[in-house]
Amino acid sequence: MSVESIFPRLEALLPKVQKPIQYVGGELNSTIKDWDSADVRWALMYPDAYEVGLPNQGVAILYEILNELPGTLAERTYAVWPDLEALMRAEGVPQFTVDAHRPVRAFDVLGLSFSTELGYTNMLTALDLAGIPLLAEERGEDDPIVLAGGHAAFNPEPIADFLDAAVLGDGEQISIAISEVIREWKAEGRPGGRDELLMRLAESGGVYVPKFYDVDYHPDGRIKRVAPNRADVPWRVHKHTVMDLDEWPYPKKPLVPLAETVHERFSVEIFRGCTRGCRFCQAGMITRPVRERSITTIGAMVENGIKESGFNEVGLLSLSSADHSEIADVAKGLADRYEGTNTSLSLPSTRVDAFNIDLANEFSRNGRRSGLTFAPEGGSERMRKVINKMVTEEDLIRTVTTAYTQGWRQVKLYFMCGLPTEQDEDVLGIADLAKKVIQAGREATGSRDIRCTVSIGGFVPKPHTPFQWAGQADHETVDRRLKALRDSVRGDKQYGRAIGFRYHDGKPSIVEGLLSRGDRRVGAVIRAVWEDGGRFDGWSEHFSYERWRASAEKAGVDVDWYTTREREENEVLPWDHLDAGLDREWLWQDWQEAVNGSEVEDCRWTPCYDCGVCPTMGTEIQIGPTGRKLLPLTVV
Ligand code: SF4
Repeated sequence: MSVESIFPRLEALLPKVQKPIQYVGGELNSTIKDWDSADVRWALMYPDAYEVGLPNQGVAILYEILNELPGTLAERTYAVWPDLEALMRAEGVPQFTVDAHRPVRAFDVLGLSFSTELGYTNMLTALDLAGIPLLAEERGEDDPIVLAGGHAAFNPEPIADFLDAAVLGDGEQISIAISEVIREWKAEGRPGGRDELLMRLAESGGVYVPKFYDVDYHPDGRIKRVAPNRADVPWRVHKHTVMDLDEWPYPKKPLVPLAETVHERFSVEIFRGCTRGCRFCQAGMITRPVRERSITTIGAMVENGIKESGFNEVGLLSLSSADHSEIADVAKGLADRYEGTNTSLSLPSTRVDAFNIDLANEFSRNGRRSGLTFAPEGGSERMRKVINKMVTEEDLIRTVTTAYTQGWRQVKLYFMCGLPTEQDEDVLGIADLAKKVIQAGREATGSRDIRCTVSIGGFVPKPHTPFQWAGQADHETVDRRLKALRDSVRGDKQYGRAIGFRYHDGKPSIVEGLLSRGDRRVGAVIRAVWEDGGRFDGWSEHFSYERWRASAEKAGVDVDWYTTREREENEVLPWDHLDAGLDREWLWQDWQEAVNGSEVEDCRWTPCYDCGVCPTMGTEIQIGPTGRKLLPLTVV
């Protein structure tokens, strides 16, 4: 049965809201497929505003792949701002997709991609506006399967009550497999209803269905056991890994936003995974092993993406782009190809070495020199050893000196505060480093026109990392250290004015910590926050720490127990039954080595140190050189 567009009803509300353009759809390369010719229909949601959600690469890739699949359609939906939410409630307009403005509840699957846990309350708004019961157990046969993916889905326990299912890892192949399971089940006349469909998905071992697992607790609140409550459901659910990125050269037709968005460029992912072993980095741990896209495919994707979108900026994405084994050839090849055109290239650079500056020089041939970014992450040598960020002060000074000598005037440095074992002097070390950077720049250039911006984020211990057992620093400690650092920078007459300082207070990190390492009992807090008006928690103007604390108290949840408490080796962690491939013993050993300041090399260039991923997942490191070339131009 056809589903009607709600646009006529929405249109009447748009003149009354801010940035109405974000709700109208019709972007270049968006797709609307005939409803009746599809038998599997996905609504894909990035649970944040359009301006953040549209550039999201994960959603964009799945949107294209699913729409290419015969008999399957996919549309996008984003979080609506509170002004439109109020009007939609008043007028009874449901959560809609921006493509054909179809009501989200009419779809078979509502797939949510969570890059951050701070999007959880927005999920509840979308479910409620859609008319889908918040609790999975209250959903009926006509409700979509609510499915989570993205990095936060590696511990979906805090939102387990609201989810029907979750998927870990790369979405390309599993989204197609899920579509086929749904298609078959529908073609058979939906035997056993929703429960059987979820059972079919769970039996495969590739989809986690929380309701098929029971959690038992010790009297002191720790988890005793997580166990399947049905036969044929696996004890552990595994992540998915795409092993040949060249076979999946998406996005082929990049979405071009209508409204302003956080990134307005075409991004090509040049590799997935990272084995540098930074102990704080969940993305690096859960996306192992490294799988490179070949230089030929990168060249073809850039060429094709520009042609299809008209973007004049191309970003080469990955967790550490300068580490691609053929990045020098990629950089030179693309810089040669687009020299003299209006196409600019960018590389998120975080590696602290001169090679990175060579790359930046290539990429700025077309004239733009916005600044170089490096991420030492820790302010002292000791701290950097603990987090396994192998950068010495000497490396950093040498690198920035080269940058300033070659004409760069602005350097940005990223750090974290609240790291395990951190002391006040580790954070104050950031000020010393920044001053040395300015001093080196002035000496190298003879100019006082040298800038360094220090950006500091709060550290949050994440699941599936060696720091998953660590006690998180409380926000008072983080705020005190940041204040001392700010005073040290600002009070310096010689260098203070040349140093920019950006940081957030420590409170949002505590909430992120609660949601990252929480278990199913934390769901009651999320719901209480949402019922109290919590929305857009990733936005400082909407975030209320007091609301989270009050809601936790109301739900009987001790925030400190979940955040600042250090876990013991054998404590069952809420995500232990979800398998990112990492060997638990290796993670524990790495945590002990962190405390002792021992470093681990990158297994791309040194022997495998048995983190467990490759044998468990049947994967391997895939790096070049491939001997292939950027040319000839071939359209993907
Ligand atoms: S199993 Fe070995 S080669 Fe594979 S990611 Fe882990 S350390 Fe590296």
